[in-house]
Amino acid sequence: MSSSYAPTIGLEIHAELKTQTKMFCNSKNDPDETNPNINVCPVCMGFPGTLPVVNKEAVKQVLRVGAALGGTLADYTEFDRKNYFYPDLPKGYQISQYQFPLVSKGSLRDISITRVHLEEDTARSQHGGDGWSLVDFNRSGIPLMELVTDPVIHDAHVASQFAQELQLLLRYLGAGDANMEKGQMRVEANISVSKTKDFGTKVEVKNLNSFKSVEKAIEYEIKRQTEALERGEAIVQETRGWDEMKEITYSQRIKEDSHDYRYFPDPDIPKFRLSRVDEFSSKHIKNSLPELPWIKRERLIRNGLDVANAEILVADHAYASLYDEKIEPIKDAKEKKIATNILLTSIRGMNAGDSELARIGDSLAVAARMRASGEINSSAAFTVIQKVLETGKPFKRIADDMGLLQMSDSGSVDQIAFEIVKENEAVVNEIKAGKEEAMKYLLGQGMKKTKGAVNPPQLEASLKRIIFP
Ligand SMILES: [Zn+2]
Repeated sequence: MSSSYAPTIGLEIHAELKTQTKMFCNSKNDPDETNPNINVCPVCMGFPGTLPVVNKEAVKQVLRVGAALGGTLADYTEFDRKNYFYPDLPKGYQISQYQFPLVSKGSLRDISITRVHLEEDTARSQHGGDGWSLVDFNRSGIPLMELVTDPVIHDAHVASQFAQELQLLLRYLGAGDANMEKGQMRVEANISVSKTKDFGTKVEVKNLNSFKSVEKAIEYEIKRQTEALERGEAIVQETRGWDEMKEITYSQRIKEDSHDYRYFPDPDIPKFRLSRVDEFSSKHIKNSLPELPWIKRERLIRNGLDVANAEILVADHAYASLYDEKIEPIKDAKEKKIATNILLTSIRGMNAGDSELARIGDSLAVAARMRASGEINSSAAFTVIQKVLETGKPFKRIADDMGLLQMSDSGSVDQIAFEIVKENEAVVNEIKAGKEEAMKYLLGQGMKKTKGAVNPPQLEASLKRIIFP
């Protein structure tokens, strides 16, 4: 029965933009400020008689997002007042955009977008258990981008992937950090289920603070609505919250329609003809875009990286630049593969930070070449790379200084083997008695003695010649 109900999902995503100052005043936009009510002024506290001035940088950032999404950038735009009362909204209205958003249409991960507009964030209220409430205006008036998708998503996982790709895009563009746990990016999902082509009654789910919550809440809501309809109940159009602990949605309030907000153009803000300003022109904005995440992903896979490694690089700017600068130019395929492994397995496994990564220089290519030619073995290379990250000294010099270059002349290897046999009589006897796996222990002793510089197959051959003459 339940399989005949198909879900339809649309997303509304808010993201705080990373600008020097707030949307309509000169107060600092600093999400890391922990003291309350520091970055405030009469404008963002909603004092009567103050006048908003539009933040040019915020407009530019939304236009860049729009251009990256292949959307239509507005020629004419205006700001509107969205009227509602809430203690964290000192003016009694929020300045937003209604009829003339900065961006219309476009798509991301094949999901079509309705609009992207610019508005201001509210203050942050904090409610105490015994009836008091505090309001912090640091967040009041921070530029907020809102992106609305068409109701074309039919799967919770696809919805979550869309949000993740948008987060990447915002970071690539330097438009925002979009950290969901910090509330810098907030996802709301409109969900309905229906047996026919017509949409069912939609329910809006809020308070989704992680990509996992987005997915779980949508799945929960699809199931809840389907079961209600199967019982013959009607779905109420409402806003529901997500309880992260209980993993359920719960009713918050009956949803307002847009006419409840009595939108009208803000008379304090002039109308804009964006195409008349050179730096807002579509051509200028498009030329300012960096390589976008999905373009980079395609390029890396085309160049031979597997999907998982490509995804690591797409998500991590520091590693990706290192890859592009130091590994991409390597001609030899084998060396290139080794260098990729050193970067994405060894170095990444060491949790190297930006300052350490900056020290790698040409050592990555040198390490790969020396590994490929057998001049150094993999465990020794790992040790040397660690030192390179710590000190910034060249790979070859460290390998030399630490005596980690592969010992390959047979005389010295035999000498080592001879010492090992002499020092481990009991183990040697076990091997002679047929316990071949004990050879591993002797090899380990050899690695220890030479700090990994001996070539294991060569040592094993030498040990066998001495033990079984
Ligand atoms: Zn202010």
